[in-house]
Amino acid sequence: MATKEYFIPEHYGNKVSTVDNEGKRKWIYAFQPRGKFYKYRTWLSWFYIILFFGMPFIKINGNPIFLFNIPEGKFSLFGQLFLPQDFVILAIAMLLGIVFIIVFTLLFGRVFCGWVCPQTIFMEMMFRKIEFWIEGPAHVQMKMAKQKVKPRSYYIKRGLKHIIFFGISFVIANTFLSYIIGVDALIEIIRAPFGQHLVGFIALLAFTAVFYFVYAYVREIVCTVICPYGRLQSVLMDKNSMAVAYNYNRGEPRGRKRKGNDDLGDCIDCGMCVNVCHTGIDIRDGLQMECVNCTACMDACDDMMIRVGKPTGLITVASEKQLETNTVGEKSFDLRKKLMITLLIVLTGAFTALIVSRSIFDSTVMRVPGQLYQENADGTVSNLYKIKLVSKSAKTLPYHLEVKEKEAELIYVGQPLDSLRTGEHMEETFFIKIPQDKIKSRKEDLHVQIMSEDRVIQTKTVSFLSGY
Ligand code: SF4
Ligand code: SF4
Repeated sequence: MATKEYFIPEHYGNKVSTVDNEGKRKWIYAFQPRGKFYKYRTWLSWFYIILFFGMPFIKINGNPIFLFNIPEGKFSLFGQLFLPQDFVILAIAMLLGIVFIIVFTLLFGRVFCGWVCPQTIFMEMMFRKIEFWIEGPAHVQMKMAKQKVKPRSYYIKRGLKHIIFFGISFVIANTFLSYIIGVDALIEIIRAPFGQHLVGFIALLAFTAVFYFVYAYVREIVCTVICPYGRLQSVLMDKNSMAVAYNYNRGEPRGRKRKGNDDLGDCIDCGMCVNVCHTGIDIRDGLQMECVNCTACMDACDDMMIRVGKPTGLITVASEKQLETNTVGEKSFDLRKKLMITLLIVLTGAFTALIVSRSIFDSTVMRVPGQLYQENADGTVSNLYKIKLVSKSAKTLPYHLEVKEKEAELIYVGQPLDSLRTGEHMEETFFIKIPQDKIKSRKEDLHVQIMSEDRVIQTKTVSFLSGY
């Protein structure tokens, strides 16, 4: 199919949508989108919001499903506890995550931002909807903002809106904190007298203030200026990446249909795609860093196309290459995409295998330095060992040590430990004793079993020395 030469506006790449010509912030009054994609996003966001607020209460094997306790160096992923000893696994998991993000973005563009990112979900599906509910639709808000003398009701509504915004920010901050310190610790902070958890309370207020400031004032600037993932788009995407795009082959030349200008494209220049865009851009200007692929403009344009009796999909999901070759809508599942999707599946599998195969128990058994062996008066030989342990199980485990070899006896030095608490580093010293007539060589391998009741949790091989 023949392609049309696309008119690139003069301001393309030179203008920030949220800044006016004098360099001042341009407040975006985004219209509420309506349409199938907005409906899907609404369902998805409800699911997401329930998940976000509910997850801190979900535990697997006694561990929170997700925990990122940076101050204590404790992390939980799908109920698996990670401690600083798991640094290598965490580092590999992070690297896999980064590669996953790069490949995913290369394939599907910034779809994560518009559909999954908490910033967009909370801003567009919660705070913006409350704003519409209290202050009215975008055109009413815009009109009111321009009015020099404002009625009393304006200030009452704004005050109410900000009180609700602050309240929701407080709930988000609590939930956010519960992902860091765990919901049990958070409940303890809430229940305890104010003075006992002053630091926790200050942290809670600080988080609340940040969330409130972001959702009440900063808004789309998080996506268009602050977020590092957004800034990386230009290097992560290429001509084959899929993104929300205006099909200029179909739309241009744009304009309102009048008698005498029948050779116009399908874009009637109604401006609805711009009105609904919460980052304030005109998707018809081409692929832009500010676009978070929320698909609101697709809904708005589809609605317009239906009204004027044209096919939907003038704004659609397409790659730059598809636009250039006028092959929008044609399947482009080439080898490169197949390879990338395979890589995504492999990475997800590798990440899952890493987490699942990880031992919940770390231990090292060493001979105590400077002690070779002791020949005892009772006709036995003994060696002295030290064991260091850390448990990543959510529960406190009953614990004792055994030696697998029947002829060997294990004798603790001092009071033996009887339980292993989560995340606590423990160590103890013990002898292994073997009758001289049972020893078969100068150096033998013995197996120390770490037991929890009747269950062998781990087996460690140690060498036993003698004067044989
Ligand atoms: S251009 Fe369209 S998809 Fe991109 S942010 Fe604006 S409304 Fe969303
Ligand atoms: S909504 Fe569609 S028809 Fe209206 S200006 Fe945007 S691209 Fe053109």
